[in-house]
Amino acid sequence: MSAQHEAGVATTTHRVVILGAGYAGLSAAIQLASRVDKRSEKVRVTLVNAQERFTERLRLHMTATGQRLAELSIPELLEGTGAHFERGWVTAVDADAKTVRIDDERVLPYDTLVYALGGMADTAAVPGVEDHAYTLNSAQDAEVLADRLSRLGSGTVAVVGSGLTGVEAAAEIAERHPELTVVLLGRGEPGAAMNPKARAYLRSALDRLGVRVRSGAEVVKVLPGAVELAGGESVAADAVLWTSGTRVSPLAAAAGLTVDERGRVVTDATLRSVSHPEVYAVGDAAAIRQGYGVMHGTCQGGMPTGVHAAVSIVRELRGKRPKPFRFGYYHTPVSLGRNDAVVQFTHPDDSPRRLHLTGRVAVRYKETVTASPWPTWGRMKKMPASGAFWPRGGRFTRVREA
Ligand SMILES: Cc1cc2nc3c(=O)[nH]c(=O)nc-3n(C[C@H](O)[C@H](O)[C@H](O)COP(=O)(O)OP(=O)(O)OC[C@H]3O[C@@H](n4cnc5c(N)ncnc54)[C@H](O)[C@@H]3O)c2cc1C
Repeated sequence: MSAQHEAGVATTTHRVVILGAGYAGLSAAIQLASRVDKRSEKVRVTLVNAQERFTERLRLHMTATGQRLAELSIPELLEGTGAHFERGWVTAVDADAKTVRIDDERVLPYDTLVYALGGMADTAAVPGVEDHAYTLNSAQDAEVLADRLSRLGSGTVAVVGSGLTGVEAAAEIAERHPELTVVLLGRGEPGAAMNPKARAYLRSALDRLGVRVRSGAEVVKVLPGAVELAGGESVAADAVLWTSGTRVSPLAAAAGLTVDERGRVVTDATLRSVSHPEVYAVGDAAAIRQGYGVMHGTCQGGMPTGVHAAVSIVRELRGKRPKPFRFGYYHTPVSLGRNDAVVQFTHPDDSPRRLHLTGRVAVRYKETVTASPWPTWGRMKKMPASGAFWPRGGRFTRVREA
């Protein structure tokens, strides 16, 4: 830590650089900047992101069907906290020199780094995806798909990946574009992790919207105008949306940070990199182990990781040890177009409970959750401790030490 305290007042500035202003990175920036005592602690918080506009990833299937989202400016979201915003594309992290390179030209030094660059669908795993498929990996990618769908007239859209992103996208496209045939292709059954009733509801909603579900399908190649399945069958498609698999930025691995097989930064119990303790990793970019296994990428878990990293940095600045991070899942809300949804309540290890919501109640629940980051961040600015409320997972997360 570079901030030295003399009679309770820091004499040097501690530089915290946060990479990525998604749900996790913004939570870290707002929480940290709001918690720092600006009279006695010299801490400079800089949040770096490729775009100035916040990407609402949870709504990218809406962007892909031409629906306009709110304009959320990252500098405005940071207003009043004292955190600085730096727009640019991070091109390298030098973990020895403790610097970050932006747009290949600017260099930002750090004392503590928060790595929050998120994740995306894996477009490298299957040949042809990079060249012929659309993705929801960024707002721009979703807009390109929206443009294509609006000009198709009629035809077939193949959505590959029967995970929740694939389900939400297939339902949204079918509802917005009834002139198109939507085929949902994936290895597993849609809603496979839900209880049987919730899963059946989800399936009947897809049927009602006209989505043709093909489970047990392994896509091995994407071609112009078709996808090829294992076994040789080809499914004609005028547009292919790829939602399958996950991959992350290669920057952490290139910097020499310890990463897992997917490239995610492996953290200790407090969310610090196991190889570089001055680096915290949060959100989808981090491999965070809990008692039930490594967390999977969600907003519900990502925001708490950002808050926890911020709280830990403040603790370290004040000469205290950071505490272990604990998190238990509590729900899986899934939109099925704008007029239907299903919400599966879960045990902390993400296994389904019996309780679930459907229909209008579920639509309202899902919308409330999706819109909740702004009030959460607003409250955090005034009352930082309010950000630290999330389910710790009870007995499911008690056993752990990195
Ligand atoms: C269509 C869709 C629906 C989803 N629905 C849900 C849901 O209902 N519930 C749920 O919990 N989760 C949902 N998810 C998953 C959720 O969006 C992610 O888990 C969440 O966004 C992770 O947050 P994050 O902050 O780690 O990363 P992100 O939100 O992805 O943020 C990462 C940020 O880093 C920036 N960035 C990346 N690389 C660079 C670079 N080199 N230089 C500069 N900036 C960079 C990106 O532009 C982005 O702003 C959904 C995802 C999708 C795609």
